[in-house]
Amino acid sequence: MRKSGRGSLIGEYPAFDDIYCGLRALRRMPKAVIGETEKAVELARRFNREVVRPRALELDLRKQKDPDYLPWDLVREANRWGFYTMFIPRIFGGKGVNFPALSCVLEELASGCTGIANLVGVHYLGVATLCASWNIRLMNRVMRDTVAGYRSGEPCLISLAVTEPDAGTDVEEVELVRKARVSCHARRVKGGYVVNGRKIFISNGHLSTWHMLIAYEDLKRPQSTTVMLAVRNGTPGFSFGRQEHKMGQKACPASELIFEDCFVPDENVCVSAEQSAGLLGGAVEDAIMQVIDYVVSGSRAGVGAFGTGVARGAFEEALHYAASTEVEGKPLINHEWAQCLLAEMYKNVAVSRLTYMETNYANSLYGMFKVLNYRPVFYLFKYLPRPVIDRVIRPLLDLDAVTRLFRKIYFDWQPPPFTRRTSGWASLSKFAATDAGVRNCQLALELMGRAGLRHDGGVEKHLRDSKLLQIYEGTNQLNRLNLFKCLIAPSVPGAVVFDE
Ligand SMILES: Cc1cc2nc3c(=O)[nH]c(=O)nc-3n(C[C@H](O)[C@H](O)[C@H](O)COP(=O)(O)OP(=O)(O)OC[C@H]3O[C@@H](n4cnc5c(N)ncnc54)[C@H](O)[C@@H]3O)c2cc1C
Repeated sequence: MRKSGRGSLIGEYPAFDDIYCGLRALRRMPKAVIGETEKAVELARRFNREVVRPRALELDLRKQKDPDYLPWDLVREANRWGFYTMFIPRIFGGKGVNFPALSCVLEELASGCTGIANLVGVHYLGVATLCASWNIRLMNRVMRDTVAGYRSGEPCLISLAVTEPDAGTDVEEVELVRKARVSCHARRVKGGYVVNGRKIFISNGHLSTWHMLIAYEDLKRPQSTTVMLAVRNGTPGFSFGRQEHKMGQKACPASELIFEDCFVPDENVCVSAEQSAGLLGGAVEDAIMQVIDYVVSGSRAGVGAFGTGVARGAFEEALHYAASTEVEGKPLINHEWAQCLLAEMYKNVAVSRLTYMETNYANSLYGMFKVLNYRPVFYLFKYLPRPVIDRVIRPLLDLDAVTRLFRKIYFDWQPPPFTRRTSGWASLSKFAATDAGVRNCQLALELMGRAGLRHDGGVEKHLRDSKLLQIYEGTNQLNRLNLFKCLIAPSVPGAVVFDE
């Protein structure tokens, strides 16, 4: 420790593990993730060429003219290509590709269209939320529904419903929940909960079959009375409202979900104060905050991948333009200023990718994927024959003891520095990569002049799409504060974040 100029004590160096997750991962991660990731990226590139790029601009225009249009054909196509089951673990019937590879797939898809990428990405936000509850029985039920949807050709997607008309940022940031003005109420009744309230801006809402719903038993004490419920379409009292008419990512609907005396049975309760009472020495609030932290630590890496993808899409359009346009008697690409600009854009893509990869390493070593990416577990689940999974493993998933064991590992045995590291890196990636996405769209417009403004040039749409990334999964301002809280403040005694 050393004294700063103003006399406060500051830790000299950041902890080794806080800054070298990738290095640690070299030793610990299973080698097979490389081949798996390569294959997943190749599939995403083919999907981009054959489905996303040919459809992106047309779909954007169509949605502009008909805001209530729902892109079912695209969702069916993504389902047919296996994107909705690709990252579901094999024990739950999915293909079991390692979770970090999802970010690489999302970057590929977002380089073509962030809205279409979100049609895939948001489903995994739902999956991650379900998984963060470690309610193994319910995870098995809901994810097997998605797998059945792949087999039947009728997609079964999962959405996450947190945001309310008067509560956005505050219900996503651990420290702010207690101040949130929430209104989605879950009343405890015999055999379940009765829910009343509205959720807004729910991505894929109208296209999803299951909804991970966050509600509160006591609206004045949301931080310690949060419940997460799995609500399936067709449940009496649950209906869809309107879709938002938003500036970008038009392919992906942002939906209103309405709950009017909607009864959700106990078997669909993912996590509640009652269930978390035995965790973390009975600190219900901490247990609920831990769930939120697991979710955002995974999902913000995904949004970082979207930012990287849109930055790359803008770069590719600019490169194409520079290579095919003459300025003052020579190709634009041979003008030095254009080369510097393209180099800057390339750097933005590369650095953004490093941030989400580092976040994935952190999650693999210290966060949500730490058990799945532990070598013996990884290879066991990868190579265990399906009939063995179905006959031996599947019945075990319904046992309370299995849920208890996973909750022990993920709550009671999760040291706070692990959570700080994954949460801090996730925020870093989220704001760094999405800011880079917006920046690259602006640079592409500078290079292309009026051609960049045309809808059919593609960059104009990338710019509209990229802006939304700075807002969802916690605004970039809030993610900066979270980075400060997780990775900077611990080395400065007395530093307080989210002060009352
Ligand atoms: C396209 C899109 C898709 C979305 N999809 C989903 C979804 O699938 N599921 C879901 O639940 N939600 C979803 N959301 C909601 C999203 O998560 C919220 O919009 C986001 O968290 C920001 O909340 P807000 O819009 O209410 O902003 P606000 O909270 O109203 O923030 C407004 C401004 O105040 C600042 N601010 C707020 N609080 C603080 C504070 N304490 N300290 C300092 N500054 C502060 C913010 O940084 C921002 O600049 C989506 C949103 C969008 C735009």
